[in-house]
Amino acid sequence: MVALSTVSELIVVNHTEEQNIPILMYHSISSYASPRFRPCIVSPEAFEEHLSYLDQCHCTSVTVTQFVQAIARGGDGLPPRSVVLTFDDGYADFYTDALPALQHHGFVATLYIPTAFVGGTSLWVQDMDEGSRPLLTWEQLAEISASGIECGAHTHTHRPLDMLPLSVVRDEIVRSKELLEEHLGQQVSSFAYPSGFYSARVRQIVQAVGYASACAVKGALSSLHDDPYALARLAIKPDTGVHDLAAALSTGHGPLVASHVKRARAHLRQRARSVYGKLWCGWSGLYKGDEADAVGND
Ligand SMILES: [Zn+2]
Repeated sequence: MVALSTVSELIVVNHTEEQNIPILMYHSISSYASPRFRPCIVSPEAFEEHLSYLDQCHCTSVTVTQFVQAIARGGDGLPPRSVVLTFDDGYADFYTDALPALQHHGFVATLYIPTAFVGGTSLWVQDMDEGSRPLLTWEQLAEISASGIECGAHTHTHRPLDMLPLSVVRDEIVRSKELLEEHLGQQVSSFAYPSGFYSARVRQIVQAVGYASACAVKGALSSLHDDPYALARLAIKPDTGVHDLAAALSTGHGPLVASHVKRARAHLRQRARSVYGKLWCGWSGLYKGDEADAVGND
């Protein structure tokens, strides 16, 4: 833990001057998790420290859609020291713990929702002993959306898209968009790949069905030159401190940023999954999407 009095001594954020924009990826804002799910939680206290740090550094939050609109304009209208906060999977603690803290600091965010599980529990991480973690309801999502938080799609059933037949991929991508639009009464234009896994064909489908952006993981800062359909994000972990944020935002290095070697390895593995996906499933038993893959991205 870092006392907030020391935050001002940390390196001042200067990412916008270099056109590097941090897109932070959170999952559950909670203090409790099974050992395997632990990389996917950040405690409410640590989350508050992160927001206080961003606040003190005069960062301005934008949604993913606001960011890609700025990319299309060559950066025009993007506030100085912009930061993007994203939350995958729609855990109910977003409503009880994250949203009040975001509102207190005047920050916006983008949520990514797997629509089959809204109002239920996180059944897709049952094999991580986390199948009963409560998820947001449609009523809560409507309220969250009305408060200015962007709600994007995260497929319907949270399966790794690069492992599925393309007809199923298309259904997953279209259905989640339609359901969110029906329930929220507004256009849904952002998407996030479950566990960060995608292929060139999956990316093509996301673009073709009308999304304007899609988030990957990558462990890197995004920028005005980033691919709007494979935006780089930094995975925030339970032990991520403000020093880690400061290092990533000011220098583009530190524990949140994957090394070139690690990114090259992840890229190769992603290509291998795309090409040999079905065989891969055969080798490893029935592959199940694992949130820890996205968090570690290695
Ligand atoms: Zn997810």
